[in-house]
Amino acid sequence: MISLPSLWKASAAVVALAVSSSAYADYCESSLALVDDNFSGGNLGVCEFSSANSVEFTITPEDAPPINPSAWYSFRLSPKQATELTLTLTFVDGHARYLPKISDDGEAWRTLEASHYTISEDRSTLTLLIEARSAPLFISAQELLVNDDYERWLRTLASHPELSNRTLGRSIDGRPIQALLTEKKAEVVYLFGRQHPPEVTGGLAMQSFVDEVFTDTALARQFRERFMLVLVPLINPDGVEAGHWRHNLGGRDLNRDWGPFTQPETQSIKRLIDELDAESIAPKLMLDFHSTQRSRFYTQMPEDFDEPLDFARDWLERAGLQMPDFDFLYDPRKPSGQENTKNYFYSTYHIPAITYEIGDEVDRHDIQKTSPIFAREMMRVLLERE
Ligand SMILES: [Zn+2]
Repeated sequence: MISLPSLWKASAAVVALAVSSSAYADYCESSLALVDDNFSGGNLGVCEFSSANSVEFTITPEDAPPINPSAWYSFRLSPKQATELTLTLTFVDGHARYLPKISDDGEAWRTLEASHYTISEDRSTLTLLIEARSAPLFISAQELLVNDDYERWLRTLASHPELSNRTLGRSIDGRPIQALLTEKKAEVVYLFGRQHPPEVTGGLAMQSFVDEVFTDTALARQFRERFMLVLVPLINPDGVEAGHWRHNLGGRDLNRDWGPFTQPETQSIKRLIDELDAESIAPKLMLDFHSTQRSRFYTQMPEDFDEPLDFARDWLERAGLQMPDFDFLYDPRKPSGQENTKNYFYSTYHIPAITYEIGDEVDRHDIQKTSPIFAREMMRVLLERE
């Protein structure tokens, strides 16, 4: 059973009714049922009924390959009468990466019971068996965590007396790229999220992590007294709205645009970074929240820093001791040539710059329990350092 943090859950009914501006919006119907993706985050690819109670979906990425095979799908099934239905999803240039999530109302989500779906051996096809029902059913690669949810969360956060909201720029489709900032200090910590639309677990982790940083504990207060915080939780709002696998509306992976800065989303963040650089505000840490198959933290090699124990090793070791049952990897790597956020911050500032990846199918309660621990240890370790 998945349950979203209550703050975000409240908006799901609204989300379900919202009309998507996606170019991919589509529907198909038979005498027994209608399928559509006319809501934020909805994307059913192409669908066609092969009989009154069987639907075939062709799920394709938003752009021509190569693209990361994070095959997103999200649609609503509306039966016209109670009848069993078979839904077959065929993935083109991708595979059945996510276990199907279902929701009666767009609010409470759960993973579909394993007896109700099959995945072909080559993972190119997912077949769902839906029991007879007359009420609509949402079916989605992951639970929906879309623009309205972020809007609501950011409004709540912005009511914190130390935070102010700033629109850094606009996406290609005109959505605001919103940041929350604390007062300027000598040192700054950057927290980024949702460059990749399907990476919902990273979004959930970021929310719990950030909420912990803004609690009223001695540790969090002391941390905020020393460090300025810059939060940009939703870098790719157009991709999230349209139900993309990876890209923004410019056909770019935004996490490969740190350096070139060719897209309005990354450009708008770069302007803020330049502004802080011009005032000699020193970046100390960058965390970029994502999702992948298994929770892992991509960071630099220990020898990339001139200190006996680098931040990431120290942080993750301490956090791990407090949650021995939470499966995650400390995954240091030599900087690759990829123009991602991590490499940009390390090569520009020589600071720990970490891709914070949460597993796709990690229990959502575990995300809520462990993210505050990662946040507290991050604050402790940074405060101990010069
Ligand atoms: Zn990602």
